[in-house]
Amino acid sequence: MLLQPFLILAFASIPAYAVPVDNGITIPNISEQMCGTQSPSRELRTAHAQLRQARKAGLEKRGQQIVVQLYMHFVTAFDQAHFYSAAVRQRLATSQIAALNIAYRPANIVFAANPATYTIRDDWATDANSTSMKQALRKGTYKDLNVYFQTNLSTAPYTYSPASTLLGYCTLPTQITYTNGQGGQTEYPAIDYAIDGCNVLAGSMPGSPAPISGYNEGKTAVHEIGHWFGMLHTFQGNTCAPTDGGDYIDDTPQEGVSTIGCPKGKDSCSRTPGLDPINNYMDYSTDACYTQFTPDQQARMISMFQMYRAGE
Ligand SMILES: [Zn+2]
Repeated sequence: MLLQPFLILAFASIPAYAVPVDNGITIPNISEQMCGTQSPSRELRTAHAQLRQARKAGLEKRGQQIVVQLYMHFVTAFDQAHFYSAAVRQRLATSQIAALNIAYRPANIVFAANPATYTIRDDWATDANSTSMKQALRKGTYKDLNVYFQTNLSTAPYTYSPASTLLGYCTLPTQITYTNGQGGQTEYPAIDYAIDGCNVLAGSMPGSPAPISGYNEGKTAVHEIGHWFGMLHTFQGNTCAPTDGGDYIDDTPQEGVSTIGCPKGKDSCSRTPGLDPINNYMDYSTDACYTQFTPDQQARMISMFQMYRAGE
């Protein structure tokens, strides 16, 4: 399969207070770098386009409830470890999984808790050695979700600052089977998809002992896990052009600029229908502002899980 290496984008500290451009040209992405998820592959875009057409034509398969086995990993820096006693970790895990299940219930997706791991290690806590961390800690198969809650998650050069704007990143789904010599499908060994999963700043967990202001209700994990199910940002493409594929979701209005905070009435693409989907989990709003996945997103997550992860 060969997952693409992560493209962790460089920090951009310029807030997105630019005047929205609404003439169909591409708007540069100058927003704060809150999510480091890579750009979607051509393969994933094609799958989105096909599923979008299938939904329009009423041909989309109706999914049953999905139960995802969730493996949580606490990874703390040495000087942060005292915040994360066993009792605190248990409380955080319980509140985080509750937040996930509330957010994903409308999509008929349930997360099942498994015992969490706990590691004290500076280089892993900053994400300096992400691949080795995941090779050591990841559990389950490609349909199982691993989330690494790191106290000092940061981009290169991996020196964490409380002013860091990186809240998380996640792998998008990719094909993990190939056509073998007999014409059948063979799955790549687990070591090849070891990096699959989500990295989330531990301070975003509900009840965190070191909370990130505005982002401490557990909804960073909701957003990142949306990527794990194949969802793109609602502002994908940063354009108002109706011809742009955007997020390949029909019931999220076109959005040219990602959201900061919760600005009611924001309308970065005023010539296309609908206000910006500031309450959507796949925007960049604050946790208090995040309230929904749309029906099309809910259906797409189920379809993509079945297609890529459940092997259906
Ligand atoms: Zn994201």
